Amino acid sequence: MSRKPLIGITMSAEKGDFPSQQFLGKQYCQAIYQAGGIPVALPLITAEDNIVATAAILDGLMISGGVDVNPLLFNEEPHPQNGRIDPVRDEMELAFIELFMQQKKAMFGICRGCQIITLALGGKIYQDLKEQKGGELLKHSQDAPRHLPTHSITISPNSKLSLVFKSDKIIVNSYHHQAISQPAPNFIVAAESSDGVIEAVEHSLDQYIVGVQWHPEHLWQKDPNTLALFKQFVENC
Ligand code: MN
Repeated sequence: MSRKPLIGITMSAEKGDFPSQQFLGKQYCQAIYQAGGIPVALPLITAEDNIVATAAILDGLMISGGVDVNPLLFNEEPHPQNGRIDPVRDEMELAFIELFMQQKKAMFGICRGCQIITLALGGKIYQDLKEQKGGELLKHSQDAPRHLPTHSITISPNSKLSLVFKSDKIIVNSYHHQAISQPAPNFIVAAESSDGVIEAVEHSLDQYIVGVQWHPEHLWQKDPNTLALFKQFVENC
């Protein structure tokens, strides 16, 4: 009997009231399970033997949303609007991304996840959209509940996203003050909003790497196409 793919999901440690706890939204885990995978929570341990041993048994990596990436890691000083950072999480996720690139295993980045994948592989981000992108922006930090999509995005034809959403325009939720400014080499823009903000990127070569700026983990329960996105990832693991 073939086993289901094991999908590592990175955790966060950002809740100030609970300094001894690590966190992972249940929606991420449920989405992976519903999509046919076995979710595996990845604690924030940066020791190399921990990361190497874990990566060896995983079939895929999902990098969840969270705090901002430390800009110093990518030779930038912090912009005044750069938010909280977590150097331990940065170190752990960068180590996983490096191993998954070497092993050509599938990766899926959500929000912070798509940003750190982009930075790790040689792209760039805006540390703050409002301050650095310029022009008229949509509201990307919605006040509406997380399961409500609030702005539309246009999906690029021939992208992996276009295969699951079957429409060139969808609406998504939005909880980000940062975004990709320049995709990493060998990545394409797979979706953008009408203000020109990059909302998704995909690796253009044979490895499955997709990053989305919105939060599909809060939308899949009501939207079968969003569940199909998680299924596409799991099937490629
Ligand atoms: Mn957005």
